[in-house]
Amino acid sequence: MSTVPSPAPAASPPAPVSPVQAQALADGVLPPVEEVRPGIWTLAVPFRSGVPDATLVYVAEGSDGVLTVIDPGWSDDGELDVLSAGLGAIGRSVADVGHVVVTHLHADHLGAAAAVRHASGASVAMNGLEVRALEHERPDAERHEADIATWGIPDDLRAGVSAAWGTGRRLGLGAAVTPFADVLLDDGDVLPVAGRTIRALWTPGHTAGHLCFVDEGDGLLFTGDHVLPRINPGIGLGGRTDTNPLGDYLASLARLDPYADFEVCPGHEYRFRDVVTRARTLTRHREERSRHVAAALDTLDAPTLFAVASRVPFSGGIESMTGFLLASALTQTAFHVDLLGRADEVRPA
Ligand SMILES: [Zn+2]
Repeated sequence: MSTVPSPAPAASPPAPVSPVQAQALADGVLPPVEEVRPGIWTLAVPFRSGVPDATLVYVAEGSDGVLTVIDPGWSDDGELDVLSAGLGAIGRSVADVGHVVVTHLHADHLGAAAAVRHASGASVAMNGLEVRALEHERPDAERHEADIATWGIPDDLRAGVSAAWGTGRRLGLGAAVTPFADVLLDDGDVLPVAGRTIRALWTPGHTAGHLCFVDEGDGLLFTGDHVLPRINPGIGLGGRTDTNPLGDYLASLARLDPYADFEVCPGHEYRFRDVVTRARTLTRHREERSRHVAAALDTLDAPTLFAVASRVPFSGGIESMTGFLLASALTQTAFHVDLLGRADEVRPA
């Protein structure tokens, strides 16, 4: 999920298509397996045992009976018990999975891919930028560490940020998992699901190689963490890029305009409709944050990044943040500063 708390956008969240998923979310329990369309199911896999946070996994059956799993969820120990139980509920098993496709590199989406592949021989497909980000994790972390020194973070918070964002950080797959993909998916590529046309839609922002998947025939849009019904996705959480992840994210939100009538199948929370309204809400939220950042720059004289971020109304305030949340809030502030063209007004500490 990887989010930064921020004030909820003023607009109310979209209504759930599935009341049972929304109720499960409210109750802090895993939602049941549901058939979304004939031959397409969703099930939930917890982040780890005992935690209510869950990834929504999608299973599409091809006309040849082979299953394709979109985002198999987390498995930090190689166990697939929850996924297996979900597949069992639809009369199938992990052995029937021929393909795993992944929206992005985070452990709550990609984490179980290797275990599924090991169990069934399934191919694993994702965008090449995600593979590259995983391969470059260590040098990226060293560059992050150098950045952290310039942000003006109070001394007592520095070590926590370094652990979460600098050389102490991993993108979340665990040291035992090496980056891999059997198939690289580019924008427009069709998934190998017999009898269905499900296309990859490149939506960088949350991570550089984030993909959504569009099933025109069934009117479904699988959005991973690009658009969620209530959570405001964090940005730039997949390694360094040459572009501004905030600019990428806003452009990727606009890429969803053709899918206003589709049912949205996100990576967390619950299914909903009207992705365009939701995308506009997220865009407005970012515009508002840019205004706060601009106001901070107008007011402060040669501020550090931390000083600018201290003027941004993150929910709970930046003073409540440590570690990953603080690091993410600071980098996102930097993306706003950069997109405003005012990076030279921020003073390295
Ligand atoms: Zn996620």
